[in-house]
Amino acid sequence: MEILKVQGVNKAFGGLRALDDVNLSIEEGAVHAIIGPNGAGKSTLLNCFVGRLIPDTGTVMFGDTSLIGLKAHEINQAGVSRVFQTPEIFGDLTLLENVMIPTMAKRDGEFALHCWSRVDQDAEVRDKALHMLEDVGLVSKKGMIANSLSRGDKRRLELAMCLVQEPKLLLLDEPTAGMSRADTNNTIDLLQRIGSDRGITKVVIEHDMHVVFSLASKISVLAQGTVIAEGKPEDIKGDPRVQEAYLGG
Ligand code: ADP
Ligand code: MG
Repeated sequence: MEILKVQGVNKAFGGLRALDDVNLSIEEGAVHAIIGPNGAGKSTLLNCFVGRLIPDTGTVMFGDTSLIGLKAHEINQAGVSRVFQTPEIFGDLTLLENVMIPTMAKRDGEFALHCWSRVDQDAEVRDKALHMLEDVGLVSKKGMIANSLSRGDKRRLELAMCLVQEPKLLLLDEPTAGMSRADTNNTIDLLQRIGSDRGITKVVIEHDMHVVFSLASKISVLAQGTVIAEGKPEDIKGDPRVQEAYLGG
């Protein structure tokens, strides 16, 4: 069954056609990778899924819900979470606080966050956040200030902040960008584990072919704003169009 269906999406920035008639179908439970050279339109496409950009034309359906025109928090409430290319965390707060905030927001709505003491004293929220930190391997650092974490750990924290909201669809924009090989492998393990445990559908934008071929059940190749090839990893690997566009011929 399809969880996300993208049809005829176009997006221009002035004279530049960043997305040119994009059609995409994401199956429920899949790990669907979107690859393509720099500037292909990958982040623009993801931005159209989460309310950061509105396509000029086309439709984006999440089940029966059209995501176009919804606010970012409405899309989030519908069950779509996103991990950004640059981690978006609360740098001055502890790891535990960072995870408690989205936990509370999910249960009580964003308005609950206006009263910080409520968040801080809520035992249920605290327990849930601690479990989540344990899941991603950060519980021993729960009292540390988020800014003091390594790049890899910041990404894990951001992932925990997304997962605690129990999304149906998780969007990851270059989840291993700038990571060491060891951190990259840890992230691959984590994403594989999360997939099997929770049945969350994942869309991964990724540059690193090692990550793509370790994780993806399906790959779409974007070049100059258009999907030029699509299929299982083994088919994509040998596709000459992909090699030409992605690997530079
Ligand atoms: P990718 O993520 O595949 O590297 P992007 O989606 O970031 O590519 O960008 C696609 C194209 O759109 C690029 O040529 C980029 O310069 C352009 N672009 C992206 N965002 C904007 C914007 N806000 N304003 C103008 N041009 C943009
Ligand atoms: Mg990008």
